[in-house]
Amino acid sequence: MFIMSEDSQRTQGRDAQSSNIMAGKAVAESVRTTLGPRGMDKMLVDSSGEVVITNDGATILEEMDIEHPAAQMIVEVADSQEEEVGDGTTTAAVIAGNLLGEAEDLIEQDVHATTIVEGYHEASEIALEAIAEQVQEAEVDDDVLTQVAESSMTGKGTGGLTAESLAETVVEAVRHVEGDEKVARDNITVHTQIGASSNATELVPGIIVDEDPAHDAMPAEVEDASIAVLDVELGVRTGDVDAEYAIDSIDQLNAAIDAEESEVRGYAETIAESGADVVFTSDDVDDRISSFLANEGVLVFENLSNNDAGKIASATGARRVGALDDLEEDDFGAADRVGAENYGDDDLAFIEGGAAADAVTVFVRGGTEHVVDELERAIGDALDVAATALESGEVVPGAGATEIAIADTVRQEAAGIEGRKQLAVTAFADALDVVPRTLAANTGQDPIDALVDLRSAHESEGRAGLITSGEDVTIDDPFEYGVVDPADVKREAIESATEAATMIVRIDDVIAAE
Ligand code: ADP
Ligand code: MG
Repeated sequence: MFIMSEDSQRTQGRDAQSSNIMAGKAVAESVRTTLGPRGMDKMLVDSSGEVVITNDGATILEEMDIEHPAAQMIVEVADSQEEEVGDGTTTAAVIAGNLLGEAEDLIEQDVHATTIVEGYHEASEIALEAIAEQVQEAEVDDDVLTQVAESSMTGKGTGGLTAESLAETVVEAVRHVEGDEKVARDNITVHTQIGASSNATELVPGIIVDEDPAHDAMPAEVEDASIAVLDVELGVRTGDVDAEYAIDSIDQLNAAIDAEESEVRGYAETIAESGADVVFTSDDVDDRISSFLANEGVLVFENLSNNDAGKIASATGARRVGALDDLEEDDFGAADRVGAENYGDDDLAFIEGGAAADAVTVFVRGGTEHVVDELERAIGDALDVAATALESGEVVPGAGATEIAIADTVRQEAAGIEGRKQLAVTAFADALDVVPRTLAANTGQDPIDALVDLRSAHESEGRAGLITSGEDVTIDDPFEYGVVDPADVKREAIESATEAATMIVRIDDVIAAE
């Protein structure tokens, strides 16, 4: 008897488990070589030939277009990591893959999936407590924030720029939008512009939009700007229907033209008299109006996207105005400077200082598209970790030291756990070793030797990570080298990896419709 369509496919029991586990492991494996400061980049080419070169776990997994449902769950681990804390995506995916690998071994030894799931959950609780033990006591100040930002960018394609100088820009940006409790991360934008060396990357106290003035004769710069943001078509009103007028004398034609002229002039005068010296509008501006306003020294940008208009309004404190009759000084926003600048083929409008300076923009420069794109991702991660660390005030040692310490605690606690669940708890600790092992492998070291050395250094010295500094790779206390990660990045990685791995392990029946 068929209860499903004959074309649907069903895999059950061990087969289902092992195929899901294999798929999940394969995905994690695919990003392994990118982990850490000596991680390699990947070049991804999509079906239309578009090329992305990156070291970022979440970006790689997103671009890979993965279809297998279990594999997709590992991609989601990276996604949620990116979403929640902005960094540690490779770490999370790699841990998830190893939790699956360890689970596979346990299943082969006839440990039931439910036992594995329980053991993993228990181990992850222990791990989270162990993370708390690792938190650095010193206050998270600018130096620590710079270290966090720098650690997250080390080894990324920063186009020749040192991670250090970029880290300072990142910390400045985060401090700029810091509130009493939260960091207004959304008020930081990263704007990329190719055509200069990445050294020219700078922090702009305000926002940047891709726009050029509506008229060539307009001033390229306005200081102490009163800014109007309009959603009004500035031109002769055109009806929705095409109307034709029969004109049979020159006088009538002149009258029609005069009427139009005076309507247009009316708009221009209203704006000029309102006192606004910079206008951003989401709609068209008639050339005659532009030319009139140019004469009056008003700088106008037309056809803004709704998004940009909104951004400018909220940054400068302007109220968007939908009808010219309503335009009042109260509606104006303010900025110390609005400037129209030209970069090669691109025109940019800078809205800086004054009220606009509640928002900041990291203006990223670089020689090529690929450089600025990867720089943008690296800076995005660094902004996220610096914001996360500033908000929570908690950082832990990087370079594998935290994972070594957690694994050690989990192993010790495992001894007190009864039954086969103990095996799962120990397996969880073994899975965490993947981080230091991979950091070692990616620096060309023997992963087993490195793991052994790290464990004994942890035993005797306390904190021990595999630190890359310049050309050297040493085992030492990461705090001494400023290699730190936000505690929340580690927590999130453990939680999301555990969640995905246990979910995959629990599945023993896959039914796929045709
Ligand atoms: P992820 O996507 O997980 O953030 P990364 O490629 O950014 O992957 O690597 C992050 C790992 O690299 C973290 O474990 C971090 O502690 C480690 N790391 C950062 N800087 C150094 C360093 N100088 N030496 C060794 N490890 C480092
Ligand atoms: Mg990272």
